[in-house]
Amino acid sequence: MNDRQLTYQELISNGIKKLVIIITLSISALILIIVGVQQSLLTVHEAQGQMMGLNRANIDDIPSFIHWNNQNNRHSKQNTVIRVKTNKSSITATSGREGQVIMTSSASKKFIAQRKFSVFGKNVVYVNGYGFFLFYSQKESDTTYQIWVSLNKLINSMILLLIIISIVVFITLGFGTWWAQQLAAKLSAPTIQLVNETRSTIKDSEVDQPTLTVPKSPQEIHELGNAFNDLLTAQNERLQREKDFVSNASHELRTPIAAVRGNINLIKRHGDKHPEVIPESLDFIDEESLRMQNLIENLLHLSRADRAKVILQDENLSEITEQIGQHYEASIPHKMNLEIEPDLHISGHCDTLKQIIVALLDNANKYSDDDAPITLSLKSIDHKVELSVADLGMGIPDDQKKLIFQRFYRVDTSHSTEIKGSGLGLSIVSQLVKLNNGSIEVLNNQPRGSIFKITFDEI
Ligand code: ADP
Repeated sequence: MNDRQLTYQELISNGIKKLVIIITLSISALILIIVGVQQSLLTVHEAQGQMMGLNRANIDDIPSFIHWNNQNNRHSKQNTVIRVKTNKSSITATSGREGQVIMTSSASKKFIAQRKFSVFGKNVVYVNGYGFFLFYSQKESDTTYQIWVSLNKLINSMILLLIIISIVVFITLGFGTWWAQQLAAKLSAPTIQLVNETRSTIKDSEVDQPTLTVPKSPQEIHELGNAFNDLLTAQNERLQREKDFVSNASHELRTPIAAVRGNINLIKRHGDKHPEVIPESLDFIDEESLRMQNLIENLLHLSRADRAKVILQDENLSEITEQIGQHYEASIPHKMNLEIEPDLHISGHCDTLKQIIVALLDNANKYSDDDAPITLSLKSIDHKVELSVADLGMGIPDDQKKLIFQRFYRVDTSHSTEIKGSGLGLSIVSQLVKLNNGSIEVLNNQPRGSIFKITFDEI
């Protein structure tokens, strides 16, 4: 089995070649058949006409046969041989011979003497040395008329036609094949260009964010190239995010580890002589290791949320929000306003929904003053359920509202950097919101602070 993969060029070229061959051969065969049949019918018609003429002429003596024969020869296009055998008394009397009289057209004696073979039925005969003839014979009382009409002219013109058609077919095929190859090469050139471009991009290890130079036409290849580029851009961005994530994670872990190791060395070196440093260092180690633990837990959350598939079911979000709000209020210094419409249901996952609300309340608590109230609200608008956490804290600048959902991103203001955090909380929230088929946005609160609003479909 030949499992070689054909190129685009070969496929197109083969297809067009086949088409050209089929069309030229069919047209040629059609011309040959039509012309052949038409010419044959004409010849048969003429032969039958001559036979009828001979019959009607009602030849009574030899001179009248000669007269008829001369006239017939003038009108006939084909070579014709005629033989009349007769017992008519009017003719036999003038012939001066007894019995049957045979009259033939001029110079036909040799022809008539030749052997004749029937070819198709008895109407087409082959005469030795003379070729193919149409033969008709008719007998009337005492006279037999016989007529041979030559088919040589017909056969010759058919052979000539065949030769002309063969030359035309040959030229058409040659030109068609050349044209098919040119067209195929032209059609496949942009595809080959795209493939070469892709290969050279893969090989070029220097390029960090590879994209392809896309051929302008044809439209399909242009669109394919653009689609490749979109895919590449998405992949590039993903890779870049992964790289940033790894470098940020190692950077974030390096700081507490350095602090822990520094304090351990301090205790080792000076612990004996200055035991008063030990409790302070231990506190530091405790705090930094706790920070590390939180960070690692958050990283774990993130990687789990990345792969997680939760089963969504009908959840009463009003109950969940109310419950979390009440518990949370007891653990923070802020006053909390709970504005929760009862019995609002969504299709969601209870644990992750709780995790989202707690994370948003944590941030509201961290990034606003203790005396500024926090509002946790839940309402239904146009078949959507809106969950929002609003605070009167420092707020988030407009140009950073999208960035805060990226991993490790923290708004760089003197206030917020003083507050401890890893920059992972909101990226976890945004993944969990996605798992629950919701969407999240940040708005400015009035007169200050921010509102985190999550929208779900109501059921
Ligand atoms: P973390 O709080 O651990 O730094 P997050 O991902 O939860 O990480 O938040 C990212 C950043 O977004 C925070 O560092 C902070 O600058 C900003 N931010 C989040 N919530 C609020 C808020 N309620 N008010 C003001 N800024 C906020």
